[in-house]
Amino acid sequence: MAKDVILTGIRANNDLHIGNYFGALLPMVDMAKTRSADYQINLFIPDLHSFTTPIEHDKLQNQIMHNLKLFVAAGLPLDNPNIYIYRQSYIPAHSELTWILDCFTVYGEMSRMTQFKDRSAKLGNERVTVGLFNYPVLMAADILLYGAKYVPVGDDQTQHLEFTRDIAGRLNKQFGELFLLPEPAAKQHEFFGKDQGLRIRDLADPTKKMSKSEESDKGVIFLGDDPDEAAQKVMSATTDSFTDGIKLDMNERAGITNLVQIHDLLKPDEHDQIMAMGSYQDLKTKVAGTVRDFLIGFHDSLKIVDDETILRKLESDETAMSHTADITLLKVQQAVGLRPKT
Ligand code: ATP
Ligand code: MG
Repeated sequence: MAKDVILTGIRANNDLHIGNYFGALLPMVDMAKTRSADYQINLFIPDLHSFTTPIEHDKLQNQIMHNLKLFVAAGLPLDNPNIYIYRQSYIPAHSELTWILDCFTVYGEMSRMTQFKDRSAKLGNERVTVGLFNYPVLMAADILLYGAKYVPVGDDQTQHLEFTRDIAGRLNKQFGELFLLPEPAAKQHEFFGKDQGLRIRDLADPTKKMSKSEESDKGVIFLGDDPDEAAQKVMSATTDSFTDGIKLDMNERAGITNLVQIHDLLKPDEHDQIMAMGSYQDLKTKVAGTVRDFLIGFHDSLKIVDDETILRKLESDETAMSHTADITLLKVQQAVGLRPKT
């Protein structure tokens, strides 16, 4: 019996930040390592999703390799045959299935997506592309091509996962069993038991979360940041005007609470020491030093990651995954009348 598939990926639209690292990258690597004996793990770089919002295109190629290296530096093994690593755009079936699914998706269900509403409100009409509008359909294709049962997504993707189940169910109803439906979002959370709620805040504006597509990088600590500059970002973090010590309160004291949270992730054993610090200045100095040391260590791990080994793994996994994806695509093409039925 083929193993159930777990599928996951992070959009390569920019360098990853420490929020992505603790909220997604580390849990993914951990999941891949601990679950690969019982499941097939599909860990992919969703490069076609990279420019649903504007990016610097001359950086994308390097960004894709860089992100893969981040995974390896964070501990992802490249010699595990149950972990498949691939670039979405190297498997043409993703684009082909998306078009077919597009034609079974109605306008209303895409315009209801809260991610779309949020992002388009930020971008303004002139910059909202059709790609941003229908990327949930591409995401559905990413999942359905491989019959993925588990798709560990953040809360922001829950609605898209439900759409994937809807569209798969719709085609199954019309054409017979074409797709395996991924488990519903609640079930995904249960299965992973991971903290979906972790949200590192932006250092400059702690009322919002750290985001890699933020226009200003003042409050974002990227994994590729120069360690001294990252320390400087911590020193300039926005705090509050309370003077009664370090107290945790995400509403009234979000800046300080966020700094403590970051430190707890990097050095969990030092929580009491951090809470006992006399002033915000002392706390910032301590967090800045810890962030700096973390980045120095991480950059050392990154330096020894070998590009060639990654490229070899990509080539072989992309061949294997193209084969799987093409089987699903052909079934769909036959069902909708694009290919003769055998
Ligand atoms: P973008 O601005 O492009 O949406 P992002 O930083 O929000 O970038 P995503 O690509 O949306 O990142 O998400 C990648 C993963 O990182 C998701 O699993 C998401 O839940 C997680 N993540 C994103 N931001 C944070 C954060 N600030 N703290 C913890 N986890 C985060
Ligand atoms: Mg996001």
